[in-house]
Amino acid sequence: MDQFERLSQLPLRDDLRGQHPYGAPQLDVPILLNVNENTFGVPLDAKEAILKAVADELDGLNRYPDREFTELRRALAAYLGHGLVAENIWAANGSNEVLQQLLQAFGGPGRIAMGFPPTYSMYPLLASGTGTAYAAGVRGAGFSLSAQSAGEQVQALAPNVVFLCSPNNPTGTVLGLDVVEAVYEAGEASSAIVIVDEAYAEFAHAGTPSALNLLEGRPRLVVSRTMSKAFALAGARVGYLASAPEVTDAIRLVRLPYHLSAITQATAVAALRNSDALLANVEAIKVQRDRIVDELGQMGLRPAPSDSNFVLFGGMADPSSVWEKLLADGVLIRDVGIPGHLRVTAGTEAETSAFLNGMRDILAK
Ligand code: PMP
Repeated sequence: MDQFERLSQLPLRDDLRGQHPYGAPQLDVPILLNVNENTFGVPLDAKEAILKAVADELDGLNRYPDREFTELRRALAAYLGHGLVAENIWAANGSNEVLQQLLQAFGGPGRIAMGFPPTYSMYPLLASGTGTAYAAGVRGAGFSLSAQSAGEQVQALAPNVVFLCSPNNPTGTVLGLDVVEAVYEAGEASSAIVIVDEAYAEFAHAGTPSALNLLEGRPRLVVSRTMSKAFALAGARVGYLASAPEVTDAIRLVRLPYHLSAITQATAVAALRNSDALLANVEAIKVQRDRIVDELGQMGLRPAPSDSNFVLFGGMADPSSVWEKLLADGVLIRDVGIPGHLRVTAGTEAETSAFLNGMRDILAK
């Protein structure tokens, strides 16, 4: 009996029947460049600080943690700047949980969330899990999205929630703040919550403005961030948002009590105190990202410009065979389901060289 037959015997919700769980392959391969992690380890100083902070929590582990994770919210506000304070911040177990909580509060049955594919593949899954309808907007040539087009589409659909991902996964491209402004204004009629997912913001080229600049005076705007990427803490599961305080009050209605463990809170606070050390490799990753774009271009492929820690590239006749040959060489990258394209995470110099050399060999054959 396969998994679907076994599931069909359960009284599963009708709308979940036949669905596949999210899952990039987790394979035991020497070079993992498939899920946009920071492949540099946590620096020793930060590791020691986290270890001490976690050890200090052990005495109180019989008690529930601070349900309001006040210290963490303060530390995140200080990290983001822009005049934000603890009341503007919410955090959860990865930004996936933050996005899920937003849909629990502002989506749900009879409501519509909208995204602009190709974009983060969890948006439709989070919508489905929360009983929210999902509508796909349309991009222009080269996966572009103009303020005018995005605004018109939002106006026409009147969604309750809009996901804008910038830098966008899987294309790597940033959206101008004019797009965020246009979508926010177009969402006025349906009172849409506009979520700008900035999971990869720290990797953007210098001078790229964040939607944090637009929060003032826009109570329906939410900027979502994560410690999984630039901070090299994917395993700790800490994501967060900045918004008007009312949005965090709405989330308090749906969050599980004590959803952030004492260990998670201590880890994140210690990491933020050591943010200089943790973020030290971001510049090195950006160098490798730019190198991937340059060298794949020289190989005759078509890399998309990237402001993130990964590169989407096209120009291959048979991407599945490229993916398999790289895997045989011990390099795992990602087939994101866009015809003719693959996505690779920028790693250390050595990991990036292994990927680029593998690509050169494959193309030479
Ligand atoms: N948003 C985007 C655009 C992502 O690519 C990811 C991770 N792949 C997430 C959110 C979620 O990351 P996390 O839950 O680890 O914060």
